[in-house]
Amino acid sequence: MGFPRLMRPFIGVGLFLLLTPGSPLFAQSQTSILGFTPSAASRQAAIEEKFKAIPSPDEERRQHHIFTSEPHLAGSPRNNELARYIADEWRQEGLDDVVIRRYDVYGTNPKRTFLEMVAPVHYRALLRELPVPGDPDLKNKSISSAWSGMSASGEVTAPLVYAHSGNPEDYEFLRQQGIDVKGKIVLVRYSNPYSYRGFKALTAEREGAAAILIYSDPAEDGFKKGRVVPSGPWGPEYHIQRGAITYDFMVPGDPLTPGWASVPGAKRIPVEEAKSIPKIMALPISWHDAKPLLANMDGPLAPENWQGGLPLKYHLGGKRVRVHVKVEMDNSIQPYYVVEGRILGAQLPDEWIVLGNHRDAWVFGGVDPSSGTASMMELTRALGKLAKSGMRPRRTLVVCSWDGEEVGLTGSTEWGEQFADELRSKAVAYINVDEATSGADFHGQAVASLAPMLVETTRTLKEPSGKTLYEAWKESTARERRESKQAEGVTDWNLADTRIGSGSDHTVFLNFVGMPVLGLGFEGPYGVYHSAYDDFFWMSHFGDPGYRYHTLMSQLWGVLALRLANADLLPFDFASYAANIRQFLNELEKDQGKWGDKTMWGQPPRLSGQGEARPSQELDLKPILDAIDDFEAAGKRLNESVSRALASGTIDPKLAATINHGTMQVERNWLNPDGIPGRPWFKHILYGARYTYAHLELPGLTEAVEKQDWATAKQQAEILRQALVNNTKLVNQLNSSLPGEKADAGR
Ligand SMILES: [Zn+2]
Repeated sequence: MGFPRLMRPFIGVGLFLLLTPGSPLFAQSQTSILGFTPSAASRQAAIEEKFKAIPSPDEERRQHHIFTSEPHLAGSPRNNELARYIADEWRQEGLDDVVIRRYDVYGTNPKRTFLEMVAPVHYRALLRELPVPGDPDLKNKSISSAWSGMSASGEVTAPLVYAHSGNPEDYEFLRQQGIDVKGKIVLVRYSNPYSYRGFKALTAEREGAAAILIYSDPAEDGFKKGRVVPSGPWGPEYHIQRGAITYDFMVPGDPLTPGWASVPGAKRIPVEEAKSIPKIMALPISWHDAKPLLANMDGPLAPENWQGGLPLKYHLGGKRVRVHVKVEMDNSIQPYYVVEGRILGAQLPDEWIVLGNHRDAWVFGGVDPSSGTASMMELTRALGKLAKSGMRPRRTLVVCSWDGEEVGLTGSTEWGEQFADELRSKAVAYINVDEATSGADFHGQAVASLAPMLVETTRTLKEPSGKTLYEAWKESTARERRESKQAEGVTDWNLADTRIGSGSDHTVFLNFVGMPVLGLGFEGPYGVYHSAYDDFFWMSHFGDPGYRYHTLMSQLWGVLALRLANADLLPFDFASYAANIRQFLNELEKDQGKWGDKTMWGQPPRLSGQGEARPSQELDLKPILDAIDDFEAAGKRLNESVSRALASGTIDPKLAATINHGTMQVERNWLNPDGIPGRPWFKHILYGARYTYAHLELPGLTEAVEKQDWATAKQQAEILRQALVNNTKLVNQLNSSLPGEKADAGR
């Protein structure tokens, strides 16, 4: 990844001319903000100071305690009660038009799960997480046992095979050892390398396995990493990583309403036709329950990189160990609830900045998602307070508490599908916060056009250490790159992560609606993901004991939202976008030929020995590269004329509306109404996700090239080129409506 040096606006000079030292505004020394005229920038700086002073660690902690006091699974009575609580709080805080929206979706709730080893010895799996001293919440009777969202129901007794991480190359290896998993039960670990559990389930289903057991090996998130709960942040012996196995990489949301909203009474497709419902039984287990199974396995010794952190030799199995699995699910239709509130814009109420966090948790949701929910509640309290004191944003802020994210990004997807047309005409951007904090290292994601404004914003926030968030972000990113042996140094232009996959609520907005998105989170050592141990105790002892990162998240989220809401000209940088697209295309060419050794995510593995062709031999990439150059040149010119217009101090409101509506349209133009081949719901041609949830750039083109399907690749290349041409035309038009050289800075 690499960020181009964008054209910085030089509006600081203009401000200098307007203010004399000693004037009160000068003392605030906010000299320039992307998208603002000098005077608007100093007003904005004053608003931001007021805003940032409101969120407090004590309130963050109080809210976090409320949300983590009980398990609150999607659609559960407690989660619905929390929806009403949020709505009440928002009304009191002064938010406008607070409503709770209902979606009737295909339910997935466990009635009963059971696992036992029947040979060579009997062992009945606990499937429960035992309490640890000091954490009373773990004695809560309503903590669920082990289960996987969207597991099929059924019962089977069969031999057990250890299939490492459950990725296609693992089964390929088993085949080479003469081990077939058809009709058998596979035991796989969660990570190493990481892949989304739904991808593991699909892979096992395609291999003909009867069921899949997914366990947490201590080498990945347990005692091999460090101290475990209650004396450290890593996962203890009994921790179970619950989670859905939904095939939402095919189509997210309610499986029975692909592409439209599950409002009460909506049309539904038959269950058998739903592409995102798995047909395999799945169960997540702790290493406590996996250990006796692994210890009794026969068959060849597993290779060195398949060995895990338990003090035993891992074998491939297949004969001696037989297990009995039973899963009974309740799949009746059930309501999910999305809470929606807004701060109506004072000047441009029909331009929206959408902010969201999911509310549903596998258990208490200490990190995931209640840290984000607490930050959202402090964000809305602060925004409400500003609005009450007369500081309404120019544009409208829409805030949403999603339901059923954990099941299949369900609430946000249904809401996005319901309001897709309105969003396509009104929405500026979506800012997602899922896990606000599991530690101190900031991770910021943005589509490339918004990455510069994200980086700029972090310069104005103070990190608990006293550094700016910007400095802390650069340091932790440099450390991570060193540790993962990436050669790339850290610069302003590659700091933000512009490779956006799936796995959270931004998906519908980016991939279906065509909105620019940002995603924010602080991360640290975290071994209790989706387990009961991810709770208030964990957060207040390990994740963020002082709730200072929660507070910082509320501040950052709000400042970003207020900048987008108040900007004179929206701070999109299309030169930066173009350079990013060029990089994606170059990587497509460079990576070709390596795929023989790489896992073909989402596709059956290609047999070795099959020929590899470079895309450039089969496809003429020159027209796309030329189109990228043109788009970059148009973007640079727009950056320059926008800077000049802003520096002039005043912008005609009609002209501003033209520019802003035009720049909002650019992201929409990356949508292909037909979607990417085989996955019509995913319409964005620059961003997609692999079946593993990993980011996938230029998804339609890349997948066609990986399959060596040159006819499709040519079509996809032409779609990309055409979108670049359209956006270049649009940006050039906008550029010609802005004043030329004559309107220079300084008056
Ligand atoms: Zn989450």
